[in-house]
Amino acid sequence: MPCHYGYLRPHTPPLDYEHHSVIIMGAGPTGLLLGLKFAQQRIDVLFLEAEKEIATYRRACLYMPIVLKEFEKVGLLDAVVKAGAINTEGMAFRTPLGKDNRLLGCLLQTQVPKDRDSDLNNMVVHVGQNELAKIIQGMAEKYLHFQVRLSNRFTGCQQDEPGKVRVGVSTPKGEQFMEADYVVGCDSGTSAVWRALCIPFQRFTWNDFRLIATNIRYP
Ligand SMILES: Cc1cc2nc3c(=O)[nH]c(=O)nc-3n(C[C@H](O)[C@H](O)[C@H](O)COP(=O)(O)OP(=O)(O)OC[C@H]3O[C@@H](n4cnc5c(N)ncnc54)[C@H](O)[C@@H]3O)c2cc1C
Repeated sequence: MPCHYGYLRPHTPPLDYEHHSVIIMGAGPTGLLLGLKFAQQRIDVLFLEAEKEIATYRRACLYMPIVLKEFEKVGLLDAVVKAGAINTEGMAFRTPLGKDNRLLGCLLQTQVPKDRDSDLNNMVVHVGQNELAKIIQGMAEKYLHFQVRLSNRFTGCQQDEPGKVRVGVSTPKGEQFMEADYVVGCDSGTSAVWRALCIPFQRFTWNDFRLIATNIRYP
């Protein structure tokens, strides 16, 4: 009996990709702020975030006038001010209190980068970056077409002829593929999206000082 197995193909139906207008990789503050702007314009936006929680790390603790102006434009400013503390003097970096509490350097409010013609130039606002992310997410999730999927790690992308972008994602349910009109890489300085597109990320390393980020409780 001749064997025909070599000619048999399993029946594969045409692939039906989940489609979104915009897929944003990375739900850090950059992505979330952009996503909020899309949502406010009623544009469907899906976030794929690699971590199982949003922004639990401690990084930014204050926002300059130029950033505050951007918060104001999207209606975030009041919530950020309410959650944080206004500082109109500037900031100082010191050695620890238990040591000699020596002033290492300071940035007075007059030296802080300003937004031209802004009425917010006389202050900075202190809020933890993790809190800021929650505020932006809370506001954005009021829009139906805004969703964040956690534990979804971007693995690769490709653009087809008509201009759709196909995206590969590693999820708790296995590998998935989706399609979008636009894909935005907001997955930080080590961006996998940039790497997938072979775009070199221009960066440098500070060699002359070290920065340690920690949280303190100050009554
Ligand atoms: C110590 C320190 C202090 C700072 N202080 C200040 C400050 O006081 N004020 C200020 O304005 N800025 C400050 N910054 C800068 C600020 O923290 C950054 O500008 C900000 O985090 C950039 O946000 P982002 O959303 O671009 O990136 P990130 O916050 O890094 O977010 C990127 C997101 O992408 C996700 N991701 C990564 N890879 C993938 C993948 N393959 N698939 C899906 N998701 C992925 C990550 O999990 C992360 O959630 C500070 C930074 C540091 C390090």
